[in-house]
Amino acid sequence: MAHRLAQTDGLTDIQQEILATVRSFVDKEILPVATELEHRDEYPTEIVAGLKELGIFGLMIPEEYGGLGESLLTYALTVEEIARGWMSVSGIINTHFIVAYMIQQHGTQEQKDYFLPKMATGDVRGAFSMSEPGLGSDVSAIRTKAVREGDSYVINGQKMWLTNGGSANLVAVLCRTEEGQPEDAPAHRSMTTFLIEKEPGFGPNPKVSGLTVPGKIEKMGYKGVDTTELILEDVRIPADRVLGGGSGRGFYQMMDGVEVGRVNVAARGCGVARRAFELGISYAQQRHTFGKQIAQHQAIQFRLAEMATKVEAAHQLMVTAARKKDSGERNDLEAGMAKYLASEYCKEVVEDAFRIHGGYGFSKEYEIERLYREAPMLLIGEGTAEIQKMIIGRRLLEEYRVSG
Ligand SMILES: Cc1cc2nc3c(=O)[nH]c(=O)nc-3n(C[C@H](O)[C@H](O)[C@H](O)COP(=O)(O)OP(=O)(O)OC[C@H]3O[C@@H](n4cnc5c(N)ncnc54)[C@H](O)[C@@H]3O)c2cc1C
Repeated sequence: MAHRLAQTDGLTDIQQEILATVRSFVDKEILPVATELEHRDEYPTEIVAGLKELGIFGLMIPEEYGGLGESLLTYALTVEEIARGWMSVSGIINTHFIVAYMIQQHGTQEQKDYFLPKMATGDVRGAFSMSEPGLGSDVSAIRTKAVREGDSYVINGQKMWLTNGGSANLVAVLCRTEEGQPEDAPAHRSMTTFLIEKEPGFGPNPKVSGLTVPGKIEKMGYKGVDTTELILEDVRIPADRVLGGGSGRGFYQMMDGVEVGRVNVAARGCGVARRAFELGISYAQQRHTFGKQIAQHQAIQFRLAEMATKVEAAHQLMVTAARKKDSGERNDLEAGMAKYLASEYCKEVVEDAFRIHGGYGFSKEYEIERLYREAPMLLIGEGTAEIQKMIIGRRLLEEYRVSG
């Protein structure tokens, strides 16, 4: 199908080459099997092996650590292509990417030397754990607690919604630590990120005493990728596995990770919306009612026009947010806007494509049925719409402050 929409100006030859390779991988290796695997809730082992071979797990990891050293933009455009094929696959690389980014930005030299080369090859794969059963948006309310004992910390608590929680062998876990803080210290200064290495799999972990991944959470969509709880009972972690070496910086490290993660959730929204548009415009030219293609009814054409406009607008805003970060500037405003717009538009474009399919959209034989169950996750992950609007609003008031 032609690629008129969602083009990106000014890409280098290398970026174009990477994207062409990924697009071809998506068309040949992901799209033909995605819906079947998703219905069976089966982990895409072969697809992950293929992505490892392409170097996707190390796309943004610097070359000195064995990665490709590419920009956030290249990464985001890659995610967009992959999500066009199957959103769950982009979920497998996204938490890995956030953890690698956090180690690169905030890790000690020893942590970078130890983790990044193995993460670049995909041999170590990361999960990212902030949320708990009692909280998601309100990160400052975290209860999982780490207490220093000699050269280690002892961690107790329960985490929720870990994407890749079973399949990953490294989890970045945000915990409360109160050492060295006055009693009335703000919550965000009493948080620390721990890098916990574990065996992949479910049940009590053979490598880490007291650590349990109970099993997969049954989900409405976004299947194939595992999403889990994590139980920590007197888990002992050496102090040199505190991200960055010192306690009390976890909140800022995680927020930095989430900020680049937002661009990637926006990119996923763009990819899923583009696929929904492709499915819609194709079906509209095959189905006939009242003596003509449904695409020839003006109501359907208007729907296609709205869908394409949303696909285009979301893509361009996502690209702006990625480029802003790559230029070294703060991008929280643009990332928040891109995540908000792309996820809302994605849900709308998917619903439009669903309606164009008539009754067949409700059949599991049609790909749009899968997209319809996947799109809502983007409204929640990496911060809900309300959280994005809080970030956008706060930042606008900083930028447009009226003095006096
Ligand atoms: C499939 C899936 C995968 C996930 N993967 C991960 C992961 O890998 N790691 C991880 O840490 N988390 C993960 N999450 C958790 C996700 O980040 C949270 O679900 C999300 O942040 C929302 O938190 P919550 O579910 O606790 O909702 P709540 O915070 O309880 O929010 C409930 C509702 O209240 C609204 N709300 C909350 N606060 C305000 C406010 N101040 N003003 C106005 N409205 C407000 C919200 O927008 C929402 O509509 C995942 C979630 C899902 C569903």
